[in-house]
Amino acid sequence: MIPVKGYAAQTPTTDLAPWDFQRRDVGPKDVQFDILFCGVCHSDLHQIKNDWFPGIFPMVPGHEIVGKVVKVGNQVKKFKAGDLAGTGCLVDSCRECENCKKDLEQYCMKGNSQTYNGLEQDKKTPTYGGYSRTIVVHEDFVLHISEKLDLAAVAPLLCAGITTYSPLRHWKVGKGHKLAVLGLGGLGHMGVKFGVAFGAEVTVLSTSPSKEKDAKQLGAHHFLVTKDPAQVAAASGSFDFILDTVSAEHDINMYLAMLKTDGTHISVGVPPKPLEIKTFSLMGGRKSLAASGIGGLAETQEMLDYCAEHNIVSDIELIDIKDITTAYARMLKGDVRYRFVIDIATLK
Ligand code: NAP
Ligand code: ZN
Ligand code: ZN
Repeated sequence: MIPVKGYAAQTPTTDLAPWDFQRRDVGPKDVQFDILFCGVCHSDLHQIKNDWFPGIFPMVPGHEIVGKVVKVGNQVKKFKAGDLAGTGCLVDSCRECENCKKDLEQYCMKGNSQTYNGLEQDKKTPTYGGYSRTIVVHEDFVLHISEKLDLAAVAPLLCAGITTYSPLRHWKVGKGHKLAVLGLGGLGHMGVKFGVAFGAEVTVLSTSPSKEKDAKQLGAHHFLVTKDPAQVAAASGSFDFILDTVSAEHDINMYLAMLKTDGTHISVGVPPKPLEIKTFSLMGGRKSLAASGIGGLAETQEMLDYCAEHNIVSDIELIDIKDITTAYARMLKGDVRYRFVIDIATLK
């Protein structure tokens, strides 16, 4: 076994603190890479707080992981020591169900292995995430990272990037479409970048008037303050798509009213409590309500290659791991500009 230094929550009510644990030795098809940077996703906070379901503790969060390969198994073909590497929200899946065969490992019908707060495919061994010094992952679940981009700013692409890229591609959002990105945080700011890159006319819907300038710098064409009833009323029937990245309770009916006839509301945010939807909100204009989860491995690599080609990275605030609790507190207030990334060199 490989001894690893990490940061863990011991229970849902304790702050993260240093924790030593072990990872498996490098198997024939495994890649071990030393973690250099790990993004901080709102899902980390939801999961350590048991917002969605009872978690597996101690929990080492982190699924926006980038670093450098230090060791590969003797059957590994795609990586060698010294390569840059990344891992997102998944470290394994059954590989044989209908969805896995279609490169949709995120929807594995037998249950995929999430990078942390999950179990390996033996359904027994807990997984531990990227708030740690090194990780061992089957090569099929390790992504190639371009040398061209700022590595720390690439980390958030592994979750925030693919989670917004995948639905925009699936619904073919682009030229001629009016896209609203709801919530300007980690996912939201990547949604803006991709929406703009794909040619859509992008509006940010935000509760934070102070984010207007940033939204425009990210490429958004319009900015709407959702706390202002006049601005909300004026946007009625405006958008082909809304990409909803909100992490907390919100009135989805208010936003559905902003869709055009046949418009689609795509939820990627996962608030702890169920949303209340009035059937009339969908009926008036034959609207669709959809949701999307991360992305498969092939599409994640496609997204990373697209970002390298188009020079797209996340806007980040690099933090020391000892400041993680402060970062979470700011995240809860919506004060994220626009992704915290942990410099893993600070984890000693
Ligand atoms: P984040 O950085 O904290 O951003 C969320 C943003 O939502 C905030 O910055 C804020 O933007 C807005 N917001 C917060 N509370 C709100 C409220 N009560 N009403 C309206 N807007 C509110 O979080 P994130 O990392 O982007 O994650 C967002 C959500 O997506 C989380 O629930 C996370 O678990 C989920 N997620 C899902 C997937 C997936 O596969 N579907 C993957 C990753 C994350 P403004 O200041 O602009 O209002
Ligand atoms: Zn995430
Ligand atoms: Zn499967």
